[in-house]
Amino acid sequence: MQPQTRATSQDLAEQDAGETTGGGPVPPFPDVDLMYIVDLLSPEEKTRYREVRAFLQSRIRAASIDYWNREEFPVELVAELGKYGLGALQTDGTSKLFKGLMYAEVARADVSLSALVGIHNELIVGMVDSLGSEEQKKRWLPGLHALTRIGAFALTEPDHGSDISGGLATTARREDDEWVINGAKRWIGAGTIADFALVWARDVADQQIKCFIVETDRPGYTATKIANKIGLRIMQNADIVLDEVRIPAANLLPGATDFSKANELLRDSRAWVGWQAVGIQLAAFDVARSYALSRKQFGKELARFQLIQQQLAEILGNASVSLALMAQLATIQQDGKLEMVQAAMAKSTTTRLARASVAMGRSLLGGNGISTDYEMGKLFGDAEILYTYEGSYEINSLIVARAVTGKSAFV
Ligand SMILES: Cc1cc2nc3c(=O)[nH]c(=O)nc-3n(C[C@H](O)[C@H](O)[C@H](O)COP(=O)(O)OP(=O)(O)OC[C@H]3O[C@@H](n4cnc5c(N)ncnc54)[C@H](O)[C@@H]3O)c2cc1C
Repeated sequence: MQPQTRATSQDLAEQDAGETTGGGPVPPFPDVDLMYIVDLLSPEEKTRYREVRAFLQSRIRAASIDYWNREEFPVELVAELGKYGLGALQTDGTSKLFKGLMYAEVARADVSLSALVGIHNELIVGMVDSLGSEEQKKRWLPGLHALTRIGAFALTEPDHGSDISGGLATTARREDDEWVINGAKRWIGAGTIADFALVWARDVADQQIKCFIVETDRPGYTATKIANKIGLRIMQNADIVLDEVRIPAANLLPGATDFSKANELLRDSRAWVGWQAVGIQLAAFDVARSYALSRKQFGKELARFQLIQQQLAEILGNASVSLALMAQLATIQQDGKLEMVQAAMAKSTTTRLARASVAMGRSLLGGNGISTDYEMGKLFGDAEILYTYEGSYEINSLIVARAVTGKSAFV
């Protein structure tokens, strides 16, 4: 049997144009932006937002499902994302709200690609641009902006996840005009396909955690893809081994000579996951709404049953709360007032809501909610990653509680 729905906003727009349910016309909410957040953009940004959004819905959303099933990296789709400027969001001067809405719309089309675009902008371009040397910027930024070059952010280790800032065990040893790196990293996004990895390692001389550009073709660098994931299957996460990897002294990021230097970027990347949580919930709503309007049981559309209506209202409510929270976060970020407590609260709250939303969506589709053919199964798996990476739900909650009690429960 062919899948009944792979909902896109085009589907929704078509329904909005003509379909009736017997209870009146389907209301015109193809963008599902009930709080008019997009209207806060400048006219130029609004136009660009609509263009990119249409491209993501028509080109990326349906196409990503087969790549996800095969755990395959879509090289040609990433090149197209680059042509729409999604590799340069960090430095192109657009507003924080625009950047966030772009992240949400990429996630609405595919969460793995939004992970790539988000890590790329927030951590790779962000790190090289704000903490790199002039020479490093000249060498890497043009290709990164075009998305013809990809970097990996290598912080987590097999034995240190939540406690990485204290426990980091990878070492860097200075020998004449070289650094020698030894250690292991786990879960590193794009680790098998990147041109370079930003590797965090402890300098054995002063015990400070520093960041190094390690080209992935250096002898001693080995990356092995982590297979059989239940989410983010397009993103090529890797186990990396660094065995006496020698890099020029100039590959140290001059602005990243202790871990605190990266705090601002790590805070912003935590907040970025909140935008992913918005996007995945909008996607879940798209699919659930479309399915409820087309699937009939007991002789009528699911959309006529009160319990189904309640679930649709709840998914939309969760998505709208998340969107409004992230829009306000973008405002304080734009004003330079974003602190870790707000980023952690936004990340933990929106990912908790996202997990609830995709679970409702999964159930609303019945058995078909299990299958990625109907998209919802893919969203269900992807939400688990949002809940755990960039600081797990628990750790982000503890960061918030530490700020409001003055008591730390985890260090
Ligand atoms: C798909 C995916 C992509 C990723 N991409 C990257 C990447 O590109 N680069 C990178 O560096 N890392 C990446 N990560 C790593 C990610 O950031 C870590 O998985 C995350 O920080 C959690 O660490 P952990 O998996 O080691 O879990 P652990 O730290 O072992 O935690 C296990 C459980 O214990 C809980 N826990 C731990 N300590 C406490 C405490 N004190 N109190 C209460 N609960 C606690 C956690 O919340 C969690 O539920 C990725 C992870 C995944 C799954």
